[in-house]
Amino acid sequence: MKKLVLKTTIQVYDDARELSKSDQSLLKLAHKSLKHSYSPYSKFKVSASVLLNNGKKVFGTNQENAAYSVCLCAERTALSNASSRYPKEPIQAIAVTARSLEQVLDRPVSPCGPCRQFICEMENRYKQPIRLILQGETGPIYVLESCKSILPLGFDSSFL
Ligand SMILES: [Zn+2]
Repeated sequence: MKKLVLKTTIQVYDDARELSKSDQSLLKLAHKSLKHSYSPYSKFKVSASVLLNNGKKVFGTNQENAAYSVCLCAERTALSNASSRYPKEPIQAIAVTARSLEQVLDRPVSPCGPCRQFICEMENRYKQPIRLILQGETGPIYVLESCKSILPLGFDSSFL
């Protein structure tokens, strides 16, 4: 018997001003875009902004539906927006933030399981890791260099 130990490295920043200008700008866009969230049921607004290799930025927000299973996450909305508008352009980074009417989110929010799978597919598609920049409404910022670090043993096309 052998044991495999999986490690995840997270860079933790206490203040957005410690980030690179590019990451600051992307995170700022995510915060600014929260107002476009359609979340009348959960009152939990999520926004994601994406930076492409060509320097373009796009964003997406969560889009809820009375039929809950139809709800769309901000991360997948943003990435679908990016890959629809610029299908040949690799994605460098995604910033994710959220705001709740129930509590102050003072810790980073991270993508749900299906969104992790979706981000990893984009990494594989463009053969480039996607940096994750995660923050709540306020508080520390987590930066991870690839989504694969939060989706160990992920499923990909090599199994098909
Ligand atoms: Zn999600």
